[in-house]
Amino acid sequence: MLTGKVALVTGAGRGIGAEVAKTLASYGATVVLNYAHSEAAAAKIAEEINNAGGKAGVYGCDVADFSQVADMMKQVAKEYGSIDILVNNAGITKDNLAMVMKEEEFDAVINTNLKGTFNCMRHVVRQMLKQKGGKIINISSIVGLTGNAGQINYSASKAGLIGMTKSLAKEVAAKGITVNAVAPGCIDTEMTQVLSEEVKEQMLTQIPMKRVGTTKDIAEAVAFLASDRASYITGQTISVDGGMYA
Ligand code: NAP
Repeated sequence: MLTGKVALVTGAGRGIGAEVAKTLASYGATVVLNYAHSEAAAAKIAEEINNAGGKAGVYGCDVADFSQVADMMKQVAKEYGSIDILVNNAGITKDNLAMVMKEEEFDAVINTNLKGTFNCMRHVVRQMLKQKGGKIINISSIVGLTGNAGQINYSASKAGLIGMTKSLAKEVAAKGITVNAVAPGCIDTEMTQVLSEEVKEQMLTQIPMKRVGTTKDIAEAVAFLASDRASYITGQTISVDGGMYA
């Protein structure tokens, strides 16, 4: 399904990003796993992919840094020949109630989640225009659609990402480039493992399917949007959340 395509996945050393990288590779894509801090973890996932007969490499870069991202896109395109699929998955949380949230907590989340995604899209689009095609998939969140107490920074970043998805989709639709978002609900990763049992039980009561999602649930939706089967879909946000935002 993705043979001959080169995919760059940000924040791919663990969690949803790692699963997306493995899934895209299993469908035939050559995958570049970006990381900011987790070099060893990203290298291990790349090794797993290569040992399974796929093709993968790693690239360290802080997505919040405009010029580092510019270099990453140039280097990846040079080394691998193209960037056909970009998955903007890197993300962080720094939760707090609005009235006590520190400026640094707000800025860090916006800079990584929102500006990081802008940086990657901004620098990959030129390459995709040259190639006359490409697929961009942004990982938003259900809280970008609903809001969430204690996550004013995170929900703003994830809602903003949906706006950016729609705007860029309109700018490049006629050029063979699609831009879509996936909005996960509650997925079992390190990001959610830090939540208290009480919060997790409360969340479960909100999920019509009565289970948290797996990283594979998200990765398969991303793989679909990255494939030609989704070639007439752009500017959309697909919720993958067990029916939470129905
Ligand atoms: P995770 O396990 O905490 O992983 C986050 C990833 O983002 C890590 O690989 C991390 O890499 C990377 N990252 C953070 N800052 C970065 C930066 N400045 N530059 C490059 N990479 C950076 O989280 P996850 O649950 O897999 O979440 C992945 C995405 O899904 C996030 O955007 C998150 O907001 C979204 N999401 C998750 C859930 C959920 O329930 N888990 C729900 C909705 C949406 P390093 O360790 O190398 O920094």
